[in-house]
Amino acid sequence: MGRRAYLHRKKETGKRLFGVFPAQYPREIFWAMNAIPVEIWDPPIESADAGAHLQPYICSVVRCGLSLILQKKTDLLDGFLFPHTCDSIQNMASIVNDYMGLDTPCFFFYHPKAPYKKGSRNYYAGQLKLLADDLAKHLGPLDSHVLKHSVDQGLDMLKHIADAYEMRRLGRLSVSNSSFYQNIRLAEYLHPDDFIPGFESFLKVSKGQNLKGPAIILSGILPHPEILKILDQQGVRVVDDDLLSCGRRIPLSFGQAEDPYEIMVENYFAMPPCPTRGSPIQERIDFLIDRAHQSKARGIIFCGIKFCEPELFDMPLMAAAAKEAGLKTLLLDLEVNQPVSGQLGTRVEAFIEMMR
Ligand code: SF4
Repeated sequence: MGRRAYLHRKKETGKRLFGVFPAQYPREIFWAMNAIPVEIWDPPIESADAGAHLQPYICSVVRCGLSLILQKKTDLLDGFLFPHTCDSIQNMASIVNDYMGLDTPCFFFYHPKAPYKKGSRNYYAGQLKLLADDLAKHLGPLDSHVLKHSVDQGLDMLKHIADAYEMRRLGRLSVSNSSFYQNIRLAEYLHPDDFIPGFESFLKVSKGQNLKGPAIILSGILPHPEILKILDQQGVRVVDDDLLSCGRRIPLSFGQAEDPYEIMVENYFAMPPCPTRGSPIQERIDFLIDRAHQSKARGIIFCGIKFCEPELFDMPLMAAAAKEAGLKTLLLDLEVNQPVSGQLGTRVEAFIEMMR
């Protein structure tokens, strides 16, 4: 069942739907309030109309997201959430909330940025409660037992995804790169009641040795389907990633506290380093090189998004460090929903040849 059909069905069963822009937010609070967060990263639409509202140097993630609203393709949604990810998302949040005059309510989420201090954990817990209180005005009160159940489900979901990453890293997942990311990305909108059993079946049927072909890591914002297709055609294995929409949202250790808010706090502060959370560049470099060694990757493709400031500041330094560590690197400047040009495709193929 496609995404829209799924969301229609959920709406008919009484769930409320919230459009969530990238990247970090507490999905468990939505589930506990009988709502489903539906992430908006790369909707398959033309984004030309957003140009009238945005500067020409805004990334395609924001352009596509705004176009989705302008083209009234968000009619199913009961609200929007704008996490404080980057200036571009903030910019869009104020256009949508302050100038577009929508009836759909907008919510905001201000997570802490590094360097984390003593008060950062308390601040984050406070922001979680603030968001829950704001949502409660529209969705009704939050039951703490239901929240605990949702947080446990969230943990279960994350553990399944982490297992899939581990199996892939060890070459024990016989599945194409495209199929792997199609399944991982279902977490962007499926309720855990639906995601977990489906993902368990995926893991079960995908078990098998997969050690042939050069191994690489993807770094950047999100996987581009056409790049994955080229890698599949060329027999290249993506063995790990440092993508904001995927691996960078899997905590390196899972929350163990009893209190559901404390579990969400633990998970947040255990996530891999990320420029949208202000992580120092050296932390990112160390993390990436370590991942490459652990997974025996020979190269890294940096899937940059054109005009994505947080990522583009770090990319050249990370690529230089990776080269120094003996890894092959390729830096791409992509747009979501745009086909990969012949020239770009040739660069990817040349990179693969070089690795061989
Ligand atoms: S691609 Fe970069 S600039 Fe655009 S929304 Fe994501 S983090 Fe922000």
